[in-house]
Amino acid sequence: MKKRDFIKIGGLAAGAMIAGCKSTAGEPVAGTIRGAGKRGGSLKLSYRPYELQLRHVFTVAASSRTTTPVVLTTIEYDGVKGFGEASMPPYLGESHESVLSFLSKVNLEQFSDPFMREDILAYIDGIMPGNHAAKASLDIALHDLTGKLLGQPWFRLWGLDPQKTPVTSFTIGIDTADVVREKTLEASAFKLLKIKMGRDNDREMIDTVRSVTGVPVFVDVNQGWKDRNYALEMAHYISERGGVFIEQPMPKEQLDDIAWLTERSPLPILADEALQTVDDLLPMKGIYSGINIKLMKCGGMDAAYKMITMARQMGMKILIGCMTETSCAVSAAAQLSPLVDWADLDGNLLISNDVYDGMTVVDGRVTLPDRPGIGIIEKKSDNL
Ligand SMILES: [Mg+2]
Repeated sequence: MKKRDFIKIGGLAAGAMIAGCKSTAGEPVAGTIRGAGKRGGSLKLSYRPYELQLRHVFTVAASSRTTTPVVLTTIEYDGVKGFGEASMPPYLGESHESVLSFLSKVNLEQFSDPFMREDILAYIDGIMPGNHAAKASLDIALHDLTGKLLGQPWFRLWGLDPQKTPVTSFTIGIDTADVVREKTLEASAFKLLKIKMGRDNDREMIDTVRSVTGVPVFVDVNQGWKDRNYALEMAHYISERGGVFIEQPMPKEQLDDIAWLTERSPLPILADEALQTVDDLLPMKGIYSGINIKLMKCGGMDAAYKMITMARQMGMKILIGCMTETSCAVSAAAQLSPLVDWADLDGNLLISNDVYDGMTVVDGRVTLPDRPGIGIIEKKSDNL
C-alpha cells in the first residue's frame, strides 16, 4: 500500500511505521490494515462473565479477597474482533449482575462504522448513568477493534513514544512481616513497589520492605488514616525511607484535612477513591497534588486520555493504575502510559488465570508489544 493511500484511509501519517514492522507467525502485527476501504455490516457485541483467581489473598485497609469478577467483551466487525474487559472490585459497586444487565441493554448493531467512536460512546454513556467498568469494557473493545482495522497500536495512533513508558510498581498488600518479606523477595524483578498501608502496622510494613530492598516505594493508604497529624508524621517517615508519593491517605470526605496534608507533606498526595471520571477532576485542584487514573473508574481509554490532558493543564502529577484485571484492560491502560509520570500496572500479574498475552514488564518498565489495537492476543487454552 502506498503511503498516501494509508493516510487517506486512516487519516493518520503512520505509513513509515508500516515498513518497519516485524512479522511473528500466527500473531497479529502492526502494519496490516484490515477492513479499510471495504467497510460493511454492523458491530456485533458478545460477552461472558469470568472470575479472576488471585495468586495471593489481597488485603487493603478495609477488605481482603481472593477473587475478582470480570466480564470479557468482544466487538466484532467485518471479521475482526476487538477485545474489552470490565473488572469489578467490590468497593466500586459494580458486579457480574450489573455489568451483564447493562450490556444486555446495548445495541451496537445500529452502528455500521466502528470509527464513529464519539457517537458510539455517547450512545453507550446515555443508556444509564454510572456503570463505568461496563462502559470501559466497550470503550476498550472499540479501541482494540479500530486499532486492528488500521493495523496500528494505539500508542502510535496517539503519537506516543513506546520508549517513554514508565517503570511500573508491583503491589504488596497488608500482611504479617513474614509474608511481606516473602512477597517483597518474590518481586525482586521490579524497580518500584507499591505498599498498602492503613491498618495498625504502617511502620512495620515499610520497615519490613526496607529490610529486603532499597527500591523506591509508592504508598497507598486506601483512606485508612483518619488523623491528619498522624498522616503528616507518616508522610515524613515514608519520605525518609524512599517514598515517592502517598495515595488516598484519608477518607475522601475529609477535604480540609487532605488539603492541609498536601500543603505540608514532603511527598505528593494523590487522589484515587476521591475521583472517578473527568467530571471529578476540577474540584481536586488545591486538595491533591496528583491523581490516579484507572480505566475502570473513568469509563475507558477515551475518558482517560481526556483526563490526562486536563490534569496536565491543572499542573497535577499523574499515575495510571488498574484493578486486578487480565492483560486486556492492563494493556489498554499501558497504551497511555508514555503520557504519565508513574504506572501501577500489575493487575495481570496478580492473577493466575489470565486469558490474554499483552503488555509485559521488562527490566521493571511497562513494555508495549508492537501489535495493533491494544496489543493483546488470546491465550490458546481459553478462547472466547
Ligand atoms: Mg489506590
